Amino acid sequence: MQKEPIYKLLKFYDFFETKEPDQFSSPDGMSINVGEVVVVWRFGKIGLVTDSLERLENFLNCFSILLPSSNLERKFYKIFQEIPEEKPDSSFQALEFHEAFWDCECEKDFVHRKDTLLVCPKCNAHQEDQPDSLAHEVADHI
Ligand SMILES: [Zn+2]
Repeated sequence: MQKEPIYKLLKFYDFFETKEPDQFSSPDGMSINVGEVVVVWRFGKIGLVTDSLERLENFLNCFSILLPSSNLERKFYKIFQEIPEEKPDSSFQALEFHEAFWDCECEKDFVHRKDTLLVCPKCNAHQEDQPDSLAHEVADHI
C-alpha cells in the first residue's frame, strides 16, 4: 500500500516518527506501524489492522475526538480562520454624477439645477467652479 498518504495523515494527527523506520507515535499514547498493512497500537494493544487509508483515517478521527489532549480542534479552528471572508469592495462602486445638477458649498440644499441657477444666492458659489451633483443626492433632492 502507498505510504505517502499515510505519512501525511499521521502528520495531520500529530504522530511523530520514532527511531524505528515506519514506526510512529502520538502524544495520545498510540503507535503505528506502517508496512504491508497499517497496525495501530493503543496502550500496548492492537487497535486496528488495516490496509485501507480510509479505515485508518476513520479510526484516528474517532480517537482524536475522544481524547482531550488532542489539538485537532485548534487545527480546524485555524483552517477556518484562514478562509478569507468575501467582502464587498466599496471602492468598486463608481460614483455616479448627474449632469443636469451641480453642488454649491452650502451644507444644506446644495443641489441646484444647472438650467435655472448659475450662482448660489447663499454661498455665492458659481456653477462653473462646482462639481456635478452625485446621482443619489439629486434623487434625495427631488
Ligand atoms: Zn450655496
